[in-house]
Amino acid sequence: MNYPASMLSSLGLLPLVVACAAILGLFMGSFLNCWAWRIVHGESIMHGRSHCTSCGHALGPLDLVPVLSWVFTRGRCRYCGERIPARYPITELVCGVVYASIVCVYGLTWETLELLGFASCLFVLTLTDLDSFIIPNGCILAAIGFRLAYIGVTWATGGDGLGLLRDSVIGGLAVGVPLLVLVLVMDRVLGKASMGGGDLKLLAVAGMYFGFVQCLLLLVVACVLGIVVAFVQMARAGKQRPVDADAGANAEADPAVSASAEAATSTSTEAATSAPPSSLSVTIPWCPSIAVACWFTMLAGGPIVSWYLSLF
Ligand SMILES: [Zn+2]
Repeated sequence: MNYPASMLSSLGLLPLVVACAAILGLFMGSFLNCWAWRIVHGESIMHGRSHCTSCGHALGPLDLVPVLSWVFTRGRCRYCGERIPARYPITELVCGVVYASIVCVYGLTWETLELLGFASCLFVLTLTDLDSFIIPNGCILAAIGFRLAYIGVTWATGGDGLGLLRDSVIGGLAVGVPLLVLVLVMDRVLGKASMGGGDLKLLAVAGMYFGFVQCLLLLVVACVLGIVVAFVQMARAGKQRPVDADAGANAEADPAVSASAEAATSTSTEAATSAPPSSLSVTIPWCPSIAVACWFTMLAGGPIVSWYLSLF
């Protein structure tokens, strides 16, 4: 299977293939949403039909059409009337866009399959991290599995599979080991966990996919996104604060904002509830920022790094 986007484009098939990928992405988004929900709630994806999370009623085919089911039921369960969060159709659309964009850049190739698999893992990791600060090892292993499968296919089809394997191992170590050392030092200096172990593992896996140089770009994007998200979260927490402060006895003694941009790199370990009532503390999952940075690197990492290196 080797139909790069340029070939599909010259045949006039690219729009059709991308549209099919978008539809596949919508359905995969629905499935991966369900998978992420079950991981967070300790249910197996292998057992039991999809069901309403409120009344438990089994969902039929009409309830499982991505986006459209939500639109036609006006965002409510058909059986109990409970509101279904807009997050579901939104994330399904996002998955459709991600699938379409990958096929648009890579065409129909084995690499496309590999990256769709990796993107699906990132999608689940993002949802579980947002919901409960969980980064399941199963998803990390699945991402490694997709990489190894691609290396195996490359080798089996006469490509330089061993070279790819070597580069992947070097890339994973080149990203993972320095980050691990940095995190251990920061943990010691700060006296608390500076980065979640799951984030570290995910970045090492990204190193396997993109190599050390593109991962530098990935890290910059992930940090910028993380800081933006941290500021937005702190602003929202700040807006809610006057309500909380009215209930607290020591509102006057409160410093303005004690959380800092450092929160962008802190994850699961710091529970907001453990902060003293007089300080403003937000917990920010970093995995979604890393996932978006991975997607960005998939689509544009190669050309951007080549352009940057050509400047010297
Ligand atoms: Zn229901």
